[in-house]
Amino acid sequence: MSNRTIALDDALYDYLTSVSLREPDILKRLREETAAMPQHSMQISPEQGQFMGLLVELTGAKKCLEIGTFTGYSALSVCRKLPDDGTLVACDISEDFTNRAKPYWQEAGVADKIDLRIGPALDTLDALIAGGEKGTFDFAFIDADKVNYLGYFQRALDLCRQGGLICVDNVLWSGAVADPTRNDDDTQAIRTFNQAMSRDARISLSMLPIGDGLTLARKR
Ligand code: SAM
Ligand code: CA
Repeated sequence: MSNRTIALDDALYDYLTSVSLREPDILKRLREETAAMPQHSMQISPEQGQFMGLLVELTGAKKCLEIGTFTGYSALSVCRKLPDDGTLVACDISEDFTNRAKPYWQEAGVADKIDLRIGPALDTLDALIAGGEKGTFDFAFIDADKVNYLGYFQRALDLCRQGGLICVDNVLWSGAVADPTRNDDDTQAIRTFNQAMSRDARISLSMLPIGDGLTLARKR
């Protein structure tokens, strides 16, 4: 036992999922279809999807935002837990990726809740702000291109209400953030983002070692 977060080897990860993962068949099928794609590792892990669904339940979020949708696993994990009048604005730049999501969203009965906006997400977020939606979102998930994380966060913070929750993915970047030999653009952008979060007085903060690292920021 220790007073620091436990490291998970394969056996312990398998144990964790065996006693806690409740992945519904539709999410499992979407994960299996995505696994055949070369970009499959962009998808969040199933236990992270379950955790984000729990966050939606805990916070009672209704109006949600996603920046980086890919084949729709995280969007479906969130939307399954929304109330009947819940909505998700899903931002992505790729029709190809998001077209794979649509049959699953339909089958799950959440397609009507999802407003998919194809285009550079910074533009989509600026359009939401210009359209008067500042301060109206309850929950946001940031998981698109890493070099724009700070820009996404500033806009998501504007768009969230006081008390709203912003989740940011890949903040541990497979450990590269702590490896001084790794200085590519994505790694440096995530380091810069993490530093900025650590001193941002506008939020309450926690960084969780789930998946590839997930930062939770609650707007004060
Ligand atoms: N959240 C998704 C999931 O759980 O399956 C994974 C998202 S994946 C890591 C990142 C996504 O961001 C890709 O689908 C990519 O097309 C999208 N993306 C990359 N650059 C973007 C941009 N400038 N604007 C909007 N989306 C972008
Ligand atoms: Ca991710």
